[in-house]
Amino acid sequence: MLYYVLDCKVPLWMQSRFFGYGDSGMEVILADYLGFCYGVKRAIKIARENASEEDGASCTLGPIIHNPQMVERLKEEGVGMVEDLDGMEKGTIIIRSHGVGPQVYEAAEQKGLNLVDATCPHVRKAQQASKMLSEEGYQVVIVGEKEHPEVRSIFEWSAQTAVIVETEEEAEAVEPCPRLGIVSQTTFSGSRFKEIVMKLLDKSREIKIERTICTATDQRQAAAMDLASKVDLMLVIGGKNSANTTRLAQLCAEKCKTYHIETAAELKSQWFDKIEKIGITAGASTPDWIIEEVHKQCQKK
Ligand code: SF4
Repeated sequence: MLYYVLDCKVPLWMQSRFFGYGDSGMEVILADYLGFCYGVKRAIKIARENASEEDGASCTLGPIIHNPQMVERLKEEGVGMVEDLDGMEKGTIIIRSHGVGPQVYEAAEQKGLNLVDATCPHVRKAQQASKMLSEEGYQVVIVGEKEHPEVRSIFEWSAQTAVIVETEEEAEAVEPCPRLGIVSQTTFSGSRFKEIVMKLLDKSREIKIERTICTATDQRQAAAMDLASKVDLMLVIGGKNSANTTRLAQLCAEKCKTYHIETAAELKSQWFDKIEKIGITAGASTPDWIIEEVHKQCQKK
């Protein structure tokens, strides 16, 4: 299993265990950082600790991570899923790593639910920055994807006053204001964040920037880009609904031919024609067993 390599840089001696040659002599290389991050591992651990044998007695609010295979596995272990609190009258509700707005805590309390909070501490930091900036009178701008649940939660903590921008064009359209406070989605691309911030700099005379991109994201993106520049083909593994996996795939595609897959079942033999080196990376919500399976399959090609 790959458990011990995740959430840390793969040490050199260990890399040799995951660096192999396929039957055709093709090199298969894993990125230095890939797979489950600290926040996801923590959330899954918390969910498992709160599993229940009684059907529906313990549920996450929304999928625990953006990975359908993991959600299914947790369901088998006694952790269900509800889309909103209306679907839960009693029992334990688990807040996933993306976090939620303050009103969800209040609603859970009013319903008498046992709330277990698995919000990632890095997301919590972004939420608190959003809250503090708005309370101090800054117009909060969240740099991130409008529909992403984590961004929605950061928005809620700004007392719903923040403006969310995802592109440079949207940043240009932000109204000038006396005080501007900028926070970021934790999984946003560092380089795109910088470009967007550049567009915001002339919007106010007083600007406070909270770069709340988490280290796990930076590390995975840098390692993926580095590997993508050295191989002929990149495989990026993770949920198609996972923002950070999709971002990894976009970044790798700038360097070489890239496929975003969810499982080994999607691999196609023709992808490997005339390929000498394959790189593998995976989003922060991709379970180790899926990475291992893809790695094994590539070595058989
Ligand atoms: S990517 Fe970063 S912020 Fe998001 S859950 Fe993982 S550690 Fe937390």
